[in-house]
Amino acid sequence: MPSFEESRKLILDNVPLMGTERAFLLDAAGRVLAEDMTAPWDMPRWTNSAMDGYAVRAVDCQGSVTLNVTGFIPAGASATTALRPGTAIKIMTGAPLPAGADAVVPVEDTEETGDEVRIEAPVKKGAHIRLKAEDVKGGECIIPAGTVLRPAEVGMLASFGKVFVTVFRRVRVAILSTGDELAELGDPLTEEKIINSNTLALAAALMEIGAEPTILGIARDNRADHAEKMLEGLKADVLITSAGVSTGDRDFVRAVLEELGAEFIFNKVGIKPGRPTTFGLIDRKPVFCLPGNPVSTLVTFEELVRPALLKMMGHERIIKPLIEATLLTDLTKKRLGVLNFQRVGIEVKDGKYLASCSGDQNTGILKTMVRADALALLPEDRDHFKAGDKVGIHLLGNHVDMLKG
Ligand code: AMP
Ligand code: MG
Repeated sequence: MPSFEESRKLILDNVPLMGTERAFLLDAAGRVLAEDMTAPWDMPRWTNSAMDGYAVRAVDCQGSVTLNVTGFIPAGASATTALRPGTAIKIMTGAPLPAGADAVVPVEDTEETGDEVRIEAPVKKGAHIRLKAEDVKGGECIIPAGTVLRPAEVGMLASFGKVFVTVFRRVRVAILSTGDELAELGDPLTEEKIINSNTLALAAALMEIGAEPTILGIARDNRADHAEKMLEGLKADVLITSAGVSTGDRDFVRAVLEELGAEFIFNKVGIKPGRPTTFGLIDRKPVFCLPGNPVSTLVTFEELVRPALLKMMGHERIIKPLIEATLLTDLTKKRLGVLNFQRVGIEVKDGKYLASCSGDQNTGILKTMVRADALALLPEDRDHFKAGDKVGIHLLGNHVDMLKG
């Protein structure tokens, strides 16, 4: 049985990289750029004012002076007339600097009276001016392939008129829940049924990382229904199944996948929750079989599937850092020899992470997952952790904002 880290490596070594596509800039946000982007022009495109103020010649403003204001250049206008020596032109931020000027005096350092402006302090050549191309030279690489398009990158690409960019495709992931006990959300709920919540939870987890869920619905606990829906799911880039992967009489997931030609890379992992997690390939297509208890499903997705899908979509940073946290409560593991993920709440105090047990760690109990900010990784060789001990945690979510405003 592979350890947690071994299983994660086996997965990462076996998943393919997605192809690329042209995408509208906003649809590319959060995705990984697949081409080097070069600047089609200089930035700024023209030398312009960095402040609202007066365009002047620095030599005219050494000591207290009063200059005639001969024009006005608002943002968006062009500088049609040159600055005559010994005069000033009123100018707004971003407006092109008139020929002849070599500095801008901010309005707050001046006193305007009628057609004249008074400048007391000496002005330095180049003050409050943004030079043409001082940010970026035309032809320069502005964002290299492999970069995740965050808001800053989107803004920069937009500023260079890049409407479409080549990015890695979103991985399309088919989700199949299995079980006779399941009812779809919104369907009548008889006494024996529970709602198929795993499909929704997994779809939300996929959307969080920019993957595209395809919902296959429920496969009932018979081989034919499993096979039919799995074949449908194999049209996607990845298939994830939930439940039916243990050794119960009605657990058909592995058997049917095998009939469909799956090559299993592993069929259990040394983790809790998630021991029956199975990973295989059908025609090189990754198939993840996750256990059905709702916490097991989400924890195995988080720890084993998420990094793999990020890698497929071209991301390089795919594994969350193991952050050191100090325990505020005891944590007890039931079994030695497996890595145990425990749900913990997190507070941040004096820059330090403090973790406390979020409640009952039974894998059927979603409430304590809802309360959790992180998973504490309790190593294989230790079964008891006391308040005050240090543990490693993985924060949950893409953007984990811990502090109250
Ligand atoms: P199984 O692995 O099929 O024995 O399922 C284990 C348990 O997970 C079941 O008893 C259900 O309580 C739960 N479960 C299975 N599938 C789902 C699902 N799609 N949504 C919510 N809970 C589920
Ligand atoms: Mg079942």
